[in-house]
Amino acid sequence: MAPLIESLRCDVRTFPTPEPEADGTLEWSATTAVVVQLSSAGCTGVGWTYSSAAAATVITDQLRDVVCGRPAFDIAAGWGAMHRAGRNVGTRGLWLQAMSAVDVAWWDLKARLLGVSLPALLGRCRSSVPAYGSGGFTTMSDEELAEQVASWHALGCSAMKIKIGESWGARVERDLDRVAQLRSLAGPDVALMVDANGGYSRGAARRVGAVLDELGVEWFEEPVSSDDLEGLAYLSSQLRCDVAAGEYVSMVEDLPALLPVVDCVQLDATRCGGYTGFLRGAAVAAAFHRDVSAHCAPTVHAPVAAAVPNLRHVEYFADHARLEPSLVSGAAVAQDGCLVVSEEPWELR
Ligand SMILES: [Mg+2]
Repeated sequence: MAPLIESLRCDVRTFPTPEPEADGTLEWSATTAVVVQLSSAGCTGVGWTYSSAAAATVITDQLRDVVCGRPAFDIAAGWGAMHRAGRNVGTRGLWLQAMSAVDVAWWDLKARLLGVSLPALLGRCRSSVPAYGSGGFTTMSDEELAEQVASWHALGCSAMKIKIGESWGARVERDLDRVAQLRSLAGPDVALMVDANGGYSRGAARRVGAVLDELGVEWFEEPVSSDDLEGLAYLSSQLRCDVAAGEYVSMVEDLPALLPVVDCVQLDATRCGGYTGFLRGAAVAAAFHRDVSAHCAPTVHAPVAAAVPNLRHVEYFADHARLEPSLVSGAAVAQDGCLVVSEEPWELR
């Protein structure tokens, strides 16, 4: 008889940042991982999302009873049931982050039950995954940025991203100074990427983008709010650099409107329904001839990124790269600009 999901455990782990951090439109001083363990037939799968403790409440109060007792191999059926259970409270945002943690744990559990690695279960099309260095918070001093860029050089990253759009776009001069500083620190052979986190108005984004084009920046992420699809379309048509967005996408149904207005779509398996949602989203992106870039969570993304033909890269995000080795053994490590896709199962620390 097929094994059933016997238990679900959920824990909240909070990791303070060394210093308060900020991008263009948000400040934070800690990262919260909501961790799910799903057990069946003597095996336990691990998954997590980066969210708030509220996601843990969704998991324990709303999803646990939906999941427990289900056939452990039938992830798609469980995914649909979890989604249907959210009908009256909203099936995007927090609900999908909660589902994402369960879905990743479920794939991990299935791999363990079958005695194969997670990358093997997901089905590789590559053995290593390009990773770009990401951080460059607006709160960092020049010295701190220089140190971070040096750390990305040491990992062989051929692309690096910093935050701009400081104070909702009120400090354009400092933004552009920092991009110029990144160019000089990174050197001529590194692809420069910036993320405004929706901090600019359309006009400001166009003017900043024109300077970024002069500086040879290749990637302008969320120049305006990702809710402003018309603005993204306008900027894509005006700028040489790629316009990217998608980190808040919950459902594949959101993608047909977004894909035509970006050059590369970002998907986050900790927000878009775990590996199930990520693979579906990547397929929709392929239908629009777009690459996918995995947003944050390098350890969660490494196995699934290895399985996506139209993958551009994975974000080696400073906060998560720092904390993931404290969360699990076998955390993704960048080497020669790529994440090594580990065959070893994660063990929670
Ligand atoms: Mg971003």
